[in-house]
Amino acid sequence: AKADGRNTYSFYSDSLTLQARQRLLLEQRLRNAIKQNHLTCYYQPQLDITSGRIIGAEVLLRWIDPVDGIISPDTFIPLAESSGLIHPIGLFVLQQACRQGQAWQIAGLSNINLAINVSAQQFNKGDLQHQTTRILQETGFNPACLELEVTENALMGDEEDVIKTMMELRAMGIKLAIDDFGTGYSSLAYLKRLPLDVLKIDRRFIENLPEAEDDQSIAKAIIDLAHNLRFKVLAEGVETAEQLAFLRQQSCDYYQGYFFSKPVPASEFAELLRKQRRL
Ligand code: C2E
Ligand code: CA
Ligand code: CA
Ligand code: CA
Repeated sequence: AKADGRNTYSFYSDSLTLQARQRLLLEQRLRNAIKQNHLTCYYQPQLDITSGRIIGAEVLLRWIDPVDGIISPDTFIPLAESSGLIHPIGLFVLQQACRQGQAWQIAGLSNINLAINVSAQQFNKGDLQHQTTRILQETGFNPACLELEVTENALMGDEEDVIKTMMELRAMGIKLAIDDFGTGYSSLAYLKRLPLDVLKIDRRFIENLPEAEDDQSIAKAIIDLAHNLRFKVLAEGVETAEQLAFLRQQSCDYYQGYFFSKPVPASEFAELLRKQRRL
C-alpha cells in the first residue's frame, strides 16, 4: 500500500487506526462485562451414541450484553487471548462450571461430565494444575467428572513441558480431550505420546456426512486412529439423523450438536437431565 502513494497510504493507516480503536473499545467493554457479571456459562449436552443418554456437557461461554444481547465467543475469545483477559475469564469459567456441576451432583443429577475449553495461553502458563486443584477443592466438584479441552496448537510448546502439565492434570483424576482434531499440525508420532482420554472430531469433517466420500474416509480414519490409541472419540456439530447413523455405524463413542440440542443455560440443561432421569 505504501508504494501506491500518499493518499492510499493515509487511507490505509486511517483504517488501521479505526480498527485499533474498535479493538480497544471492545476490550474496555469486555473488562466491564467481567466486572458486571455479564459473562455466563452455557451447556451443550454430550451423548453416548449407543445408549443415547446424556453423559455430560461442553461448557461454552456467553457474553450477555444488556443492550446488544448475546455476543458470540468467536468475537471476544480471540480478543481475550491477545489482551491477557483470557486468564481471569478462564478461571471464571472453571469456577462457575465446577460450582454448577457440584450443585447438580448434590441435587441428585449425578456423574455429569463437564468439558471446559482451555486456551493455549492458559495451558502453557504453568499454573493451570494449581488453579484447577484450588477450584476443585473450593467447589467440591469431583475431578473425575471434569474434562479439559485443548486444541492441537496449545500442545505445540516444549514437548516435555506439555506432557508434564498433562500428566499432572491426569494424576488429579481429570480427563483431557483434544479439541477440533484434524485442523491442527500435530503429528501422529506426537499424538501417540500424549496422555489423552478423548479426541473430538472437528465439525467441518462432520458437516457433509454421510454424502461426502472424502469426509467419510476422514471420519473413519480418525475414529480408528483414536481407538487404536485407546482414546474415546466424540463427533462435534452433529445436526442430522443421517450423520448420527453414520457415526454410530463407525463405532464413534459420543456426540454433541444441534441435532440433540444447542448450548443452553444451566437451568435448561438441568431440565434435560431431569427428563432423562424420568425416562
Ligand atoms: P469449540 O470449542 O469448537 O465449540 C464448539 C462450537 O460449535 C460452539 O460454538 C458450539 O455452539 C458450536 N456448535 C455446537 N454444535 C453445533 C452444530 O450442530 N452446528 C453448528 N453449526 N455449530 C455447533 P460457540 O459456543 O460459539 O463457541 C465458539 C468457540 O469459542 C469454541 O469453539 C471455543 O473455541 C471458544 N470458546 C467458547 N467458550 C470458551 C471458553 O470458556 N474458553 C475458551 N478458551 N474458549 C471458549
Ligand atoms: Ca471445545
Ligand atoms: Ca471444537
Ligand atoms: Ca472450534
